[in-house]
Amino acid sequence: MIPFLDMKSVYAELKPELDAAYLRVMESGWFVLGREVAAFEEEYAAFCGTAHCVGLGNGLEALELVLRAWDLGAGDEVIVPSNTYIATWLAVTAVGATVVPIEPTPAGPNIDPERIAAAITSRTRAIMPVHLYGEPADMDAIMALADRHGLKVVEDVAQAQGARVRGRRAGALGHAGAHSFFPTKNFGAFGDGGAVTTDDPKLAERLRVLRNYGSRVKYVNLERGFNSRLDEMQAAFLRAKLPRLDAWNERRRVLAARYDDKLAGIADLGLPRAPQWAEPIWHLYVVRTERRADLITALDKAGIGSLIHYPIPPHLQEAYADLGWPAGTFPIAEKLAQTVLSLPIGAHMSSEAVDAVAAVVRATLQR
Ligand SMILES: *Cc1c(COP(=O)(O)O)cnc(C)c1O
Repeated sequence: MIPFLDMKSVYAELKPELDAAYLRVMESGWFVLGREVAAFEEEYAAFCGTAHCVGLGNGLEALELVLRAWDLGAGDEVIVPSNTYIATWLAVTAVGATVVPIEPTPAGPNIDPERIAAAITSRTRAIMPVHLYGEPADMDAIMALADRHGLKVVEDVAQAQGARVRGRRAGALGHAGAHSFFPTKNFGAFGDGGAVTTDDPKLAERLRVLRNYGSRVKYVNLERGFNSRLDEMQAAFLRAKLPRLDAWNERRRVLAARYDDKLAGIADLGLPRAPQWAEPIWHLYVVRTERRADLITALDKAGIGSLIHYPIPPHLQEAYADLGWPAGTFPIAEKLAQTVLSLPIGAHMSSEAVDAVAAVVRATLQR
């Protein structure tokens, strides 16, 4: 049996540190916005290479609050990938702005800068690239466009904590980076959590107000804010995990390279290909095949977990039926939704497990 993702081994590896974090918070008697969050914000900003980090309730709210802090709303257009998890779009529509979906590059999975250039209008205010599956989007090209047109860029870093472009971390490449610490992410908490990283002190300060009822000083409310705070327990757990993140990501890189090797040369199997300039962190190892249903069945039978990220693109979801984009509107995203399959990967997976998965894939598709 090979699970899609092993969620228990982190505790086995870090039990003393995590238990100590739990005790520290319990004994402090302070659970929201305290020393753990402040310390985590400092440590995670240093990790990402930004001046500021603001701990928030989750990744979706991190994206949304950045847009609110920039005062984006009705009438404003935000460029988003057509090929992404729905949270990216939800952040934009939550503030009343308009999503402008852009197709991925032909090789996928990330937004195509050339198509972005063609979609910029006088109403465009921001670009929200996603580093999907842990692979950085083409941030050099995106930032060049943003500079030329005076646009804001918020990176969706939910799947890419620790990834780099030429040595610089995801979350430090745009004007703001929105992070999720949902438990299944590469850098996950043991519950919900999120953050924004940025070099912009004004943005960081506005987010600190917005996350806490619009208040800087208790019971003095400067604006209509929200409740979206990383809590002390999750911050303490994340502090225990952060020193391991690079090593865990490195392990994923080794496993991804092993998949590349073991799966080479199979007809009708597309392997992930990151650009030269990108250092992906392999949140997911996503292959493409027209024979996906057969492959899922064979993996199931062998006791191997697999998942589809994602089976329905946002524009075809019932949630966005009102936008009126029928099937065929974003064909590249739709094709990916029909053919992608994520194979098991994780920092605690064995090389033998990768070999076993690869053997089933090869036996199935070469039949
Ligand atoms: C997980 C995820 C989010 C949302 O993060 P939450 O913490 O679950 O709200 C946003 N964007 C992408 C690409 C994600 O994978």
